[in-house]
Amino acid sequence: IRRLDESVVNRIAAGEVIQRPVSAVKELIENSLDAGSTSINVVVKDGGLKLIQVSDDGHGIRYEDLPILCERHTTSKLSTYEDLQTIKSMGFRGEALASMTYVGHVTVTTITKGQLHGYRVSYKDGVMEQEPRPCAAVKGTQIMIENLFYNLSARRKTLQNSNDDYSKIVDLISRFAVHHINVSFSCRKHGMNRADVHTVSRLDAIRSVYGISVARDLMEISASDDDPSRSVFKMEGFISNANHVAKKTTMVLFINDRLVECTALKRTIEIAYAATLPKASKPFIYMSIILPPEHVDVNVHPTKREVSLLNQENLVESI
Ligand code: ADP
Ligand code: MG
Repeated sequence: IRRLDESVVNRIAAGEVIQRPVSAVKELIENSLDAGSTSINVVVKDGGLKLIQVSDDGHGIRYEDLPILCERHTTSKLSTYEDLQTIKSMGFRGEALASMTYVGHVTVTTITKGQLHGYRVSYKDGVMEQEPRPCAAVKGTQIMIENLFYNLSARRKTLQNSNDDYSKIVDLISRFAVHHINVSFSCRKHGMNRADVHTVSRLDAIRSVYGISVARDLMEISASDDDPSRSVFKMEGFISNANHVAKKTTMVLFINDRLVECTALKRTIEIAYAATLPKASKPFIYMSIILPPEHVDVNVHPTKREVSLLNQENLVESI
């Protein structure tokens, strides 16, 4: 009996975490989502064997964290075992990036908020290959995996004969896109202009309709209540922050997916803004509220624009 070399153990484990190119894409997208990204773009060459590149606009990775970024079992998402019970992120094992460095060439470019320039650094077998180099970067992180499975020749051969990982990747991204309406996704083959998946997020839609200055000053909001004696609802949306300047309130309100108006709700929000913000700019509000259908009377106005709601006061109060 011999104790296996650490690098052999790691390569075997890596082959399990990253079974095929699409598994690498899934891990990278989950990391981008965990980083709070609103835009995730994927480029793939040769079904992912030559190149997988995932770029996001998330919070980026701190310079101090780069040396251990790709070590096994390093994570920012978990510190005690108990944290697992309340974990909301998709990752927590700290294995994905490490695994990729054991079976491919990994290069990371990243910039964090408030930095003037980003850093680029490559990894091999869990460690940095050189000091991170300063470079120009746009907000977020770009991770590039080249020559996946270059050192697992059997795996590479089986995959080479089937170009189906590209369609698996497109399928995977389409599924993420359907679920994450607040994130825009795109996926294309390297060297192609046309994307095979391209979705826009709600924030992109607000940006293109109401302008960059509105979209820049929004915060995501959500609320819910599930107590029939008070109110039962789920609300999510975007609302302007203190930097937003406008003379008039814009309220885009959907209740149970119907475009409606609700004067009481609008008034209450305006009053809250006037009381909190010294210059009393009027807010921009996008809100989607889901209620039990029997709680909404859509029939109070001939054009169905104004609705009346059961427990309206409680609902407005809690929002
Ligand atoms: P895990 O997701 O389980 O923590 P990973 O190996 O996937 O492990 O990633 C390790 C760490 O690297 C993460 O915890 C996170 O802090 C950081 N990271 C990875 N990808 C990104 C990204 N796209 N943006 C910001 N941070 C990232
Ligand atoms: Mg992860």
